[in-house]
Amino acid sequence: MTTPARALRLPIRPELAGEEPYGAPQLDVPVLLNVNENPYAPGPEVVASIASAVAEAASGLNRYPDRDFLGLRGDLADYLAVESGVRLSAEQVWAANGSNEVMMHVLQAFAGPGRTVVSFAPTYSMYPEYARDTHSRYIAGRRETDFTLDAAHAAELIRAEQPSVVILTSPNNPTGTALPPATVRAVLDAALEVDVDGAPAVVVVDEAYGEFRRDGVPSALELLAEYPNLAVSRTMSKAFALAGARLGYLAARTEIIDALRVVRLPYHLSAVTQAVARAALAHAPSLLGMVKELRVERDATVAWLREQKFDVADTDSNFVLFGTFPDRHAVWQGLLDRGVLIRETGPEGWLRVSIGTREEMTAFKDALVEVAGL
Ligand code: PMP
Repeated sequence: MTTPARALRLPIRPELAGEEPYGAPQLDVPVLLNVNENPYAPGPEVVASIASAVAEAASGLNRYPDRDFLGLRGDLADYLAVESGVRLSAEQVWAANGSNEVMMHVLQAFAGPGRTVVSFAPTYSMYPEYARDTHSRYIAGRRETDFTLDAAHAAELIRAEQPSVVILTSPNNPTGTALPPATVRAVLDAALEVDVDGAPAVVVVDEAYGEFRRDGVPSALELLAEYPNLAVSRTMSKAFALAGARLGYLAARTEIIDALRVVRLPYHLSAVTQAVARAALAHAPSLLGMVKELRVERDATVAWLREQKFDVADTDSNFVLFGTFPDRHAVWQGLLDRGVLIRETGPEGWLRVSIGTREEMTAFKDALVEVAGL
């Protein structure tokens, strides 16, 4: 039987019709400053440790991996104790293939049909997608013109919308803005007053860029003991320079973690991933060694952009949002034509550049001088 030559019709969910997969262009150009990666590849000692850990894991790959991976979760808890001074047990830590998957677990467990997820825009553009993919309603509150979050507005929105999940991002992507603890507390307090089937809202603070925060800016991890409805999400993709390994994690009360364990797929974290992450964590000081340098380079980039009279958002992250351009696409394209890939994202007129090596930032600045006619 022959198939008639017409478009294949599929029973795709109506809300997915015409949707494009999320993702920035992956282009082969010399200077990649578009997805907030760490420009410093793991050094030879780390590579050797990872390789031997993977070899050991390989000899057991006929078996499913450790489903509850308490070894890795304990290592992550130990790392967080050193990084933020907050001591958690292995049972208070969860992990998955990138913090994207961690967040999906959160929404699968706590959002869903008839439920609402609240976040504050401009922010990470995957949040509405997590909501869509879990059949949840998504409401974006606003950030102020300087991208800070007005605590009264946030509390009011939470009261009005009664979400089951609130996502705060600190430092925020794409603006770089970190939230002061008073704002996080105001949101947590408002979330405690929510009544979704008799329960308060869960607040996830997405700290994917947490390690890049400036001195004196605390992590929301410090509030975990006080607020039962708080979860803090982190990743090894950025500060750990391990984006390719796909390891995100989350810290919260065991009751929250236990709910995530219900929705995870069986054996979601491969034995190879677990081995890579544990080997890398044993080298945390060396992997994180370049964070300080990136923060210095970040502050220098902010200062330079301001000297050129650009508007620059205050940033506690490894990227800088700057502008504004009447035709930002032309600027983005002009930089790309000169071998520098940045990101066309954020509010109209703004562009985002990730912090690379000193040489890469020089290439970026030189290209921008030409393109913007400085
Ligand atoms: N949260 C934020 C705010 C991000 O910017 C990103 C990555 N761009 C993620 C989460 C996801 O990171 P990953 O899945 O690599 O952990």
